[in-house]
Amino acid sequence: MDPRELGELGLIEVLRRRAGAPGRRWRIGIGDDAALLASRAGTDLVWTADALVEDVHFRWSTADPRALGRKALRVNLSDLSAMGARPLGFLLTLAIPGDAPGARVDGFARGLLAEARDAGCPLVGGDTSRAARWCISISALGELPRGRALRRDAARPGDALLVVGELGGSALGLHVLEHGGPRDASERRFVRMHRLPRVPLGAGPLLARRGWARTAIDVSDGLARDLGHVLASSGVGAEVELGALPLPRGLARACAQRGLEPWPLALSGGEDYALLVAAPPDAPGDVRLARALDTRVTRIGRVVAGRGCRWLRDGTVEQPSGIEGFEHFKPL
Ligand code: ADP
Ligand code: MG
Repeated sequence: MDPRELGELGLIEVLRRRAGAPGRRWRIGIGDDAALLASRAGTDLVWTADALVEDVHFRWSTADPRALGRKALRVNLSDLSAMGARPLGFLLTLAIPGDAPGARVDGFARGLLAEARDAGCPLVGGDTSRAARWCISISALGELPRGRALRRDAARPGDALLVVGELGGSALGLHVLEHGGPRDASERRFVRMHRLPRVPLGAGPLLARRGWARTAIDVSDGLARDLGHVLASSGVGAEVELGALPLPRGLARACAQRGLEPWPLALSGGEDYALLVAAPPDAPGDVRLARALDTRVTRIGRVVAGRGCRWLRDGTVEQPSGIEGFEHFKPL
């Protein structure tokens, strides 16, 4: 898919052909001034956007085009799931250099459209432009039963705090990439977690439909920061047991090899896209939820009255150091 050979319209045509028909809900997909969706009574729509920018979110020296294509859509699907919504479709604004290698564009498009097929979330339109660096901007639309959204301001004292998925693996993978690359199979596994996080995409919609969660947020900027958003919006506090955080198998050992502490990675490392959930007291416990969701689910603490988070280790308060989340505009 050489941009100079194909030109703008040629690129769009290849995307349109490969994307295929968008399914019955879409009256119009790629090709008109805008996409047209048949609306459905009794539902709320959820609309999100997330961009991946070259040299900010990824570097071509370490990125894999197919994985990047999948990740670009997956991070948006993660936002929809965190609201409790199922995906309907997405728009792609693709800005790339004119001399972008054809194989790179091709790999990116294959990964992206494979993710779209797997998720049942068709590409229905977008925009295409030339740019000095890659900017992949995706906007995805989702739907859920009316009034069922998993809002950040809905956590209540007495709720259980659960993590669906794992924390810290992506941050270790990034560290490995930025410090000489993987040295063994274990490090390669963490690099894969960074390139393409395993996101529990079915979890949000199921929790919302069953009423098993009040709040969910996908952990993209680190647990400490994302939990902080929930607590501030809901006007509540929390107690979290550090020993309970769900680290991926082998993380502690791999960290030790690199002279790193696992806790800062789990608390402030971004891009794991685990789901942090506040579950009401009458919801099923973590073991039953893990079975229902077919994913790791871990109870890490509880919501309490008050403000801010108390971090505990074996029940005593501990102030972990270095828990800053990712921030674009302020030096950490
Ligand atoms: P306009 O002149 O209205 O901006 P474009 O020529 O940019 O139209 O786009 C033509 C059609 O192709 C539109 O339906 C648009 O949604 C779609 N399109 C453009 N770029 C992309 C893209 N990167 N991915 C998917 N669809 C695209
Ligand atoms: Mg356009």
